[in-house]
Amino acid sequence: MVGTSELMESPFLDLNNGSSVVEKILAEGFNPASVVPEPLPPVVMTNGEDHGDGEEEVVVGGNIKIKKREIVLGRNVHTTCLAVTEPDANDEVTGDKDAFMASVLARYRKTLLEKTKYHLGYPYNLDFDYGALGQLQHFSINNLGDPFIESNYGVHSREFEVGVLDWFARLWEIEKEEYWGYITNCGTEGNLHGILVGREVFPDGILYASKESHYSVFKAARMYRMDCVKIATLVSGEIDCSDFKDKLLVNKDKPAIINVNIGTTVKGAVDDLDLVIQTLEESGFSHDRFYIHCDGALFGLMMPFVKRAPKVSFKKPIGSVSVSGHKFVGCPMPCGVQITRLEHINALSRNVEYLASRDATIMGSRNGHAPIFLWYTLNRKGYKGFQKEVQKCLRNAHYLKDRLRESGISAMLNELSSTVVFERPQDEEFVRRWQLACQGNIAHVVVMPNVTIDKLNVFLDELVEKRSTWYQVDKVQSPCIAAEIGAENCVCKIHTR
Ligand SMILES: *Cc1c(COP(=O)(O)O)cnc(C)c1O
Repeated sequence: MVGTSELMESPFLDLNNGSSVVEKILAEGFNPASVVPEPLPPVVMTNGEDHGDGEEEVVVGGNIKIKKREIVLGRNVHTTCLAVTEPDANDEVTGDKDAFMASVLARYRKTLLEKTKYHLGYPYNLDFDYGALGQLQHFSINNLGDPFIESNYGVHSREFEVGVLDWFARLWEIEKEEYWGYITNCGTEGNLHGILVGREVFPDGILYASKESHYSVFKAARMYRMDCVKIATLVSGEIDCSDFKDKLLVNKDKPAIINVNIGTTVKGAVDDLDLVIQTLEESGFSHDRFYIHCDGALFGLMMPFVKRAPKVSFKKPIGSVSVSGHKFVGCPMPCGVQITRLEHINALSRNVEYLASRDATIMGSRNGHAPIFLWYTLNRKGYKGFQKEVQKCLRNAHYLKDRLRESGISAMLNELSSTVVFERPQDEEFVRRWQLACQGNIAHVVVMPNVTIDKLNVFLDELVEKRSTWYQVDKVQSPCIAAEIGAENCVCKIHTR
């Protein structure tokens, strides 16, 4: 009510009745030295053939099994969450609470160390030392808006951001005065932006993407209500350009917006950019009737160092490129880089001029710390440093693939990739321990700079040992995964005869 000085009654009051919450939690056998236990998540099947009835067919070891599609929202979450407790009025207890919070954090840190040790499935480079940047933690650094336009908020890191963008512009061969870009919050934001620019350039364009494209590409199509045509893939995971051509010819009257994968999420396949462009030209699409966005989230910074890889370059008729900063680059917080042609952004921002300032980013506030981390790591490693790391990753990936095969396990490694695809382990606990990403019958390990031969050996030994308990019939039998990785990579009974 106007004029009353009464405080709103806190909805949290009841929580602190009686003995303090801290005591209650501590009484439940909290051991600050232990690693946080987590329940096994339900098995989630994705991207397989959905039969429309919520069931999915999964072929294991030659038998057809029907598994229920299980996505259970919210299960187990509340039993393991760290509840927020209201501070007690009593100061002494507050001291207890500080100690309690410190122990929660210490335990969490231990868990992080443990989880980092056994991480293999996601393409995150966990090998870094950003100790020198600890001093910046105390600042609220925010690069809201356009990196190239000053804002009134002074606590920003635009100098670092533009420096990083210039580095990527040079890598992807576009002049300083011809590009526009920004440091995004993740690879997904780069895709959302690249596809949006494509849609602004061609409002009636059709989005083409291979079916093994990242889910964020299809999310963009839904968000922007664009017509989207899925293209078939080869066994390697690359876009199938003959199917692409067929689909282009059906839609010749509409401009084309194409997502090209510089490394697919599951198989690490690199679409042949040159062949994509050639296919467009052969199908009668002149350069002013298509827009190509390159999704380099995964390998955008690895490909430039691999000979034979189709070069990503703005000297070719492409519209934008994005990359994730927390994957190969090894930034400890999610971020990404998006670069496009300035001419497109001028078109895009004219559309939104009534917003008073140039607004060409997807997000408003942007993480101002991320550009500093990127700047720091680019300066320390440089072109040569990345080149060395890429070579190491490719070498170690070959080692892993060879040893899997020697152990009688089907495995595939694309030529330009450090993603090793192999049979899905039959034990969810093993999958969980090594944090493997699985899809249908296959799993993968993405060999990043922190994945050493020693680590791979521990993994391989454990896999081989566990495997002997998963397939008890006589001796270990390999399930057939030829459909996913090709007959030449499959070592099941049928394909090794
Ligand atoms: C990881 C990934 C993305 C999304 O990146 P985020 O940074 O996780 O949002 C997009 N495309 C590909 C191919 C990826 O591997």
